[in-house]
Amino acid sequence: MKTGVKTATLLLLVMLSVSDGVRFGQLCSGNPSNQRRTADRWGQGHYGASRQGRTHKGLDITCADGATVYAPLDVTLHGKLTVYTDPRKAAINQGINLRSGDLCFKLFYVRPVQTSGSLLKGAELGTMLPMQSVYLGITSHVHVQMCNKSDPTPYF
Ligand code: ZN
Repeated sequence: MKTGVKTATLLLLVMLSVSDGVRFGQLCSGNPSNQRRTADRWGQGHYGASRQGRTHKGLDITCADGATVYAPLDVTLHGKLTVYTDPRKAAINQGINLRSGDLCFKLFYVRPVQTSGSLLKGAELGTMLPMQSVYLGITSHVHVQMCNKSDPTPYF
C-alpha cells in the first residue's frame, strides 16, 4: 500500500475504535452529565489547555470536594498514583490507575475505596479530595488522563 492509503486506513481504524460506543458514564455525584471544567482563575479544563509553559494532558470533569466518584466504565484497578511531588499539595495527592478493555486511563484527585480488583460501571470508586484547600476558587474536578496521553474527550 502507498503511504497515503496506509495513513487513511489507520485514521479510519482510529475513528472506528473511538466511535465504537465506549462512553464514560457519570463520574461524580452531583454531575450526571459529566459537565467539564471550563475557565476559572487557575486555568481551563480542556485537553491541550496551556499550563504555565506545559500542556494539559487530560480532561477535567467538574466534581465538588467530598463528592462520590463512580467507576465510569467496567474497570479493573491497578494501584494508587501520586499526582504531585510538592508537599503543599498533599491534600489532593492521590489518584487511581484503571483499565477497561483496551483503554488505560488515570483519575487524579480521588481517594480510592480500593486499589485492586474490579468494579462495575456506576459503582463507588472513591471520594473527591479537597481541591479548594490547595487551589482556592478553582472549579473542583477529577482529571481524566489516558495512559498514552491521548485526548480523552471523544469518550465523553
Ligand atoms: Zn486536569
